[in-house]
Amino acid sequence: MTRTVAIDARGLHKRFGELEVLRSVDLTVHSGEVVVIMGPSGSGKTTLLRCLNLLEEPDAGSVTVHGRTVDCSSARHGRARNRLIRDIRTRTAMVFQHLNLFPHMTALENVIEGPISVRRLPRSYAVEAGERLLAHVGLADKRDEYPARLSGGQKQRVAIARALAMEPEVILFDEPTSALDPELGAEVLQTMKDLAAYGMTMVIITHEIAFAREVADRVAFMDAGYILEEQRPNVFFNNPATPRARAFLRLMA
Ligand code: ADP
Repeated sequence: MTRTVAIDARGLHKRFGELEVLRSVDLTVHSGEVVVIMGPSGSGKTTLLRCLNLLEEPDAGSVTVHGRTVDCSSARHGRARNRLIRDIRTRTAMVFQHLNLFPHMTALENVIEGPISVRRLPRSYAVEAGERLLAHVGLADKRDEYPARLSGGQKQRVAIARALAMEPEVILFDEPTSALDPELGAEVLQTMKDLAAYGMTMVIITHEIAFAREVADRVAFMDAGYILEEQRPNVFFNNPATPRARAFLRLMA
């Protein structure tokens, strides 16, 4: 069976001033796959995730999302390239650690904003789909609440519903539970497990080892701007190949 490639990143380099944050990173994610990115703080995980949807433009390398390639080494900038980048961003939704929701909008308004303003769907259609998605993340009864009246876990689940409303090819998660108490984090992890079971393609930065063991098809371990190893979770957690990963896992235990 040939698998469809959802994201293909080749030779990504990124520096911030003197600091080389990504040094030749390659990552391929197939449709339906769940890839977990782990590694010490400052190793480049968030930068990699932001480069995958071109929120951050790599200095070199290329990013292909469902067959559309942005060559970041090319000096050519212009309308076509900007269109391509916009297209890639709408196909790759992102769920952040914080600041996911518009505070002045209800849960439902948050979910339907993108479909109406970016995808140009009729409001009635967006509302119907938005209600379905809120029900899907267990928040049908919160559709008219403002974020200030939702728990952290509920806010993250609204953020996930909002990401899904864009019908993305892939959802990128940047430590979606690290700001939450364990109990609230568990609700969010359960929602992500459900998405994985539905076959959603996901790239997830997380330190949640039990979750990664259960849900990840692959763990990519980053250190100092490189992916040092990519393994199935049972291999990575039981018998990592590199001393850096072994040391990291000892600290996490
Ligand atoms: P991680 O997610 O693994 O903690 P990050 O990708 O957030 O790592 O950061 C990698 C390094 O890049 C860190 O040293 C961080 O301080 C630096 N960095 C990240 N974003 C920026 C930025 N916009 N400007 C300058 N330095 C940055």
